[in-house]
Amino acid sequence: MTHLATERAAPALPRAARSPHQPLAIPAVRLGEGGVLGGWQRRNAEATIGHCVAQLESSGVLDNFRRVVGESGAPYRGFVFADSDLYKTIEAVAWEIARSGTDRWDAWLDDVIGLVARVQEPSGYVMTWIQGVHPEKRFAELHWTHEMYVAGHLIQAAVALDRAAGRDDLLRIATAFADLLDRRFGPGREEGVCGHPEIETALVELYRHTGVERYLALAQRMVDLRGRGLLKVGNLGATYFQDHAPVRQARDAVGHAVRQLYLNAGVTDVHLETGEPALLEAMQAQWDSAHHRKMYLTGAFGSRHRDEAFGDDYELPSDRAYAETCATIADVHWSWRMLLATGEPAAYAETIERELHNALAAAVGDDGTTFFYANPLQLRPDRFSEENAPRERRAWYSCACCPPNLARLLAQVSAYVATSTDDELVLHLYADAEIDVPAHLGGGVLRVETSYPDDGAVRLRHDGDRPLRLALRVPSWSSRTVLDGAPAEADADGYLRVDLAGAATLELDLAPRWTRAHHRADALRGARAIEVGPRVYCVEQVDLPDDVALDDLVVDERAPLVRADGATVRTTAAVRPRADALYGPTEQDLSAGEVAVVAIPFARWGNRGSSAMRVWLPVV
Ligand SMILES: [Zn+2]
Repeated sequence: MTHLATERAAPALPRAARSPHQPLAIPAVRLGEGGVLGGWQRRNAEATIGHCVAQLESSGVLDNFRRVVGESGAPYRGFVFADSDLYKTIEAVAWEIARSGTDRWDAWLDDVIGLVARVQEPSGYVMTWIQGVHPEKRFAELHWTHEMYVAGHLIQAAVALDRAAGRDDLLRIATAFADLLDRRFGPGREEGVCGHPEIETALVELYRHTGVERYLALAQRMVDLRGRGLLKVGNLGATYFQDHAPVRQARDAVGHAVRQLYLNAGVTDVHLETGEPALLEAMQAQWDSAHHRKMYLTGAFGSRHRDEAFGDDYELPSDRAYAETCATIADVHWSWRMLLATGEPAAYAETIERELHNALAAAVGDDGTTFFYANPLQLRPDRFSEENAPRERRAWYSCACCPPNLARLLAQVSAYVATSTDDELVLHLYADAEIDVPAHLGGGVLRVETSYPDDGAVRLRHDGDRPLRLALRVPSWSSRTVLDGAPAEADADGYLRVDLAGAATLELDLAPRWTRAHHRADALRGARAIEVGPRVYCVEQVDLPDDVALDDLVVDERAPLVRADGATVRTTAAVRPRADALYGPTEQDLSAGEVAVVAIPFARWGNRGSSAMRVWLPVV
């Protein structure tokens, strides 16, 4: 039997009617499998989710549960938070059910949810590392044990499964754990926050789904207590944990990047329900910090391997970028919530698009079963490899946070394509799709036909009794936008309004362009990147002649950029002599020879074996 998802089958559905934008349910936005996003979503369904399910067995995650109840004699394997790999995979399965109605995973869900139910204690507690390895640490080392982080992923998976399939067995497990957390850490009780944020956004979702206000109050309390010195921060320092300042005063994105970005998603969720202005004000300052001074061109975050941390403003080295996949996923969650919270969606939608088509697309291989953890913008030919920054994508990691996180994001990605307001349907992401138009806008189906971002043409069709008011996002890079053959301008908010009756064609400007970085970004000074539409490009050694080294290329931004087959871009570059001295006099022309260069989307790099790669190409 296939499943019929409910109209609430989407993540982040605000309960308070504060945002002018209403998310659309996943089943209402059907991505065409021939399109770029839809094809990726199909590959996620066919390859990535099954791969994650198999890895839960081979990596020991499920045995960690079995051993607690005497069903396995295996030792505990993985990091303390390994349970979250299971919950993220269940969440991916849930959104995939919402998307396709598949029953492929029903028996597997029966098995694993039954297992979690057996492991859960009557108190509601379930966390295998504590139960099976260190019971004495229960709620005793919140800075490090990730108990609430794991609970957060359990809650998100449970809410997703109930919304997607009307299945509430995992939800009963999750609410029992949330109730335990509330009895212990709720208002007026013990003060405690988790070292790794995640529970905040999850508790708001649980409140939205159940209507139980205690969960929102607990999320609010976790936000209020952060930055009060409750965590034993040790050598890592309070900044690593975002415990250095109260949330309302912390204006800069600092410390462990994934933690900061998950926290911000949760804080924005609390604001969406309570409307507290100080939280949104702090989040807007945080968003500027993270996106205008610390984001890589590819939509990645985290300039330092050490402590997996944001760097200083404009500290953006390409080769040593940590740029963890999970940080970008967390930022998609946060930026979507900011889109809803501010009602000014253009910058947030453009960021999500950049993240999807660059950092996240590159994080998974063409096979759908190999993954990057770190996503640097340059791979040197002789660079050492380390576990979380390998030269080629790996099938899994001992810290396997990223692969199932990607699986759950892709399974839910259709929820980020459009929203509705009182009087218009708003398209934020362009993808081949059929979108059910909400009844208050006239109903019917909007057909979006496009191979974007391979091509800039977006054909729209809606047949109904009355014209459909559409708001179409015009990206900031589209310098010449055309609607039905005539130049068209967006309104001040970055959206082009159309009353669609029948068909129309929007053409976005996909002319290749050179991009520079801010003058304070020392690591990027004197270099240019190639972009086409939302995509960042790179050059790989494998596309150069054998006698030309990638790192000897020097480009000239006056050289034409020509779009060629398969979304590649062709240009020319000079080749520096490798024998040049390490240091030498200035004003010496070192150029020698010229070579044709093929650039490919960063999203596609590393699919032809290990090869040097760079996004930023020197001009001097
Ligand atoms: Zn990760």
